[in-house]
Amino acid sequence: MLTVPTTMKTGFTPITLDDYVEEHLHANPGVERATLIQQLEIAIGAYRAGARCQCGEPIWIIGSAQAGLGCFACITGQPNPDHDYEIDVADDDTTN
Ligand SMILES: [Zn+2]
Repeated sequence: MLTVPTTMKTGFTPITLDDYVEEHLHANPGVERATLIQQLEIAIGAYRAGARCQCGEPIWIIGSAQAGLGCFACITGQPNPDHDYEIDVADDDTTN
């Protein structure tokens, strides 16, 4: 039986940090690249440290970078992601 290396949360579309930064900057021309990356790295660091939303769920990195640490449901008010992006931190670990 194969072991899946990443535990991507259900409903998310995994994306690398670099790819997400490009997508986000394309969609939001006014955003400063360095600021965006810094916010994402803070959220990734919190996620890797085991940070949880106040409701107990794992945090949603992309949303947490914008809105403060929280899970998808608490940040968006929707119960489940619908192919929303989430940073694939496992992939980032191996490339370093
Ligand atoms: Zn929550």
